[in-house]
Amino acid sequence: MDRRQVLKIGTAAALLTGSKLSIAQRAEETTDVVVVGSGGSGLTAAITAFDAGAKVIVLEKMPITGGNSQLSAGGMNAANTVIQKQKNIEDNWEIMFQDTMKGGKEINNPQLVEILAKNSSASIDFLLSIGGDMTDVGRMAGASVNRCHRPAGGEAVGHNLIHTLRQNAIKRNMDVRTGSRAIKLLVEGGKIVGVEVQDRHGRKYNIKSSAVVLASGGFSANLERVTKYRPEYAGFSSTNQPGATGDGLDLAAAVGAKLRDMEQIQIHPTQAAGSKILITEAVRGNGAIMINREGKRFVNELTTRDAASAAVLKQTGGTAFLVFDQNIRKSLKQIEGYYHLELCKEGATPQELAKVCGITDGDALAETIKKYNEYQEAKKDEEFGRADMPRPIKEANFIAIEIRPGIHYTMGGVVFDTQTRVLNESNQPIHGLYGAGEVTGGVHGANRLGGNSISETITFGRIAGAQAAAYAKANKKA
Ligand SMILES: Cc1cc2nc3c(=O)[nH]c(=O)nc-3n(C[C@H](O)[C@H](O)[C@H](O)COP(=O)(O)OP(=O)(O)OC[C@H]3O[C@@H](n4cnc5c(N)ncnc54)[C@H](O)[C@@H]3O)c2cc1C
Repeated sequence: MDRRQVLKIGTAAALLTGSKLSIAQRAEETTDVVVVGSGGSGLTAAITAFDAGAKVIVLEKMPITGGNSQLSAGGMNAANTVIQKQKNIEDNWEIMFQDTMKGGKEINNPQLVEILAKNSSASIDFLLSIGGDMTDVGRMAGASVNRCHRPAGGEAVGHNLIHTLRQNAIKRNMDVRTGSRAIKLLVEGGKIVGVEVQDRHGRKYNIKSSAVVLASGGFSANLERVTKYRPEYAGFSSTNQPGATGDGLDLAAAVGAKLRDMEQIQIHPTQAAGSKILITEAVRGNGAIMINREGKRFVNELTTRDAASAAVLKQTGGTAFLVFDQNIRKSLKQIEGYYHLELCKEGATPQELAKVCGITDGDALAETIKKYNEYQEAKKDEEFGRADMPRPIKEANFIAIEIRPGIHYTMGGVVFDTQTRVLNESNQPIHGLYGAGEVTGGVHGANRLGGNSISETITFGRIAGAQAAAYAKANKKA
């Protein structure tokens, strides 16, 4: 069996199971495009470049593909989609643009936000066309329209997304290498010409390529890096997979890439207390309220993540409770997963629920739920101005999950342009270097809206793959 066959078999195994790839000493290799990272943006870029005729190698430092994208839960924002039309939801890219700019406190790069919003519908079409399921639509905080797409029944988006992309990579017999860390970008004559790689055994080798797509994700799992920019987050835990360390930022900075918004680090308000599990915003989107230890609401549950997190941190003990009912449970399949992980407490009455989960005033909780149901019926939240209250909280048993804020997303990253070209300190493209996904900065400004990241990974992944393939082709001819 030649080395290429060993690689292909190893590749399929890596994609499916988390790698059995074992390769003897490598000589220098040559390809058209190297993609660093195998999350949503990396696999999308790789498939797009491959379909445009490029020879592609994907590098993933972890033992399995998928990155944070695989963990994503709530869904993918997109405006004016075929699915929204089927459900008579009126939306358009301009509203998504405005919501995203407002959520990002207007420091986002508007040109990139326009690309995100305008292409989001086509990105849903892309996923549907390759076998994905995006047929359920809900709402995430900061959105003024129901535009968060996810699999039927409100299943977590990440599993379906990454499974779909993996299957497509396998179908194309693509070269995807797990346990393979990009440690250096190779430069010749001012152009990126490849990557130095360290394999799982510590051996180093070079891959020469015409273009490199950096899709290596954010750095929320790297507390040292997080606290360098935000010392006040010392001691926080993270919702991210352990590979989200931000080494792609170092690779890019070493070749002169400009970084922006590095101190813009998102804290997610609802990480399950005492665990690393993220409770998706869709639980609130589908109707849950947030209650403090004294049994009272304290914030508009659908405000932006930064505002909701700050409000939770001000409550007794710095934690709070998501409170909902069996009807809301039925509306979102993901909640069964939280039961499976034993994160949900139940009570036949609000008073009983308060007792089992440590809310000190059960009568206050009962009164809070009663009032909320009145607001829900009247479609007007008199206390906190919550705009969307899709369901009342009435059907026993009542349910609570204790939550606290955790480090979730890094808005900052490499500066890139509308063609996904990574820019240097003089805002000029670094030839041959493209970026997509959480490693980039500028799309989300000071605060990312839930559902916008998966949208970003698919849209900018598609652009980066197409651009890198075209650049490689032109470069070959030159
Ligand atoms: C628990 C959770 C839930 C979320 N839910 C949602 C949601 O519902 N909707 C939404 O829009 N967003 C959500 N997000 C955010 C979203 O999932 C991520 O921002 C997005 O998936 C990032 O995609 P990416 O492709 O840029 O990076 P990732 O998916 O993280 O992939 C990057 C990959 O690059 C690899 N890598 C890093 N450095 C190197 C290197 N040097 N060499 C080789 N490989 C490298 C990493 O190991 C990783 O596998 C969620 C995040 C988390 C953690």
